[in-house]
Amino acid sequence: MKCKVCEREAENEYCELHEKAHRNILREYGVWKKASDVSWKQYLIEVAKNPHTGVWAKEVAESLISETK
Ligand SMILES: [Zn+2]
Repeated sequence: MKCKVCEREAENEYCELHEKAHRNILREYGVWKKASDVSWKQYLIEVAKNPHTGVWAKEVAESLISETK
């Protein structure tokens, strides 16, 4: 199985580095949801365009945006 983002070999959907970033994104979303009514996609867009987002997280966010309606 290949990572959805970088095509590296992965055990699950993402390789180790992107999986780590993915988990951070999910955890952060829990925090955001409590503070505001942001939708999942809106949140991902914010993550992707935030200059402080790391490159791994940004790639995961962009991949999730493209698969989220
Ligand atoms: Zn990857």
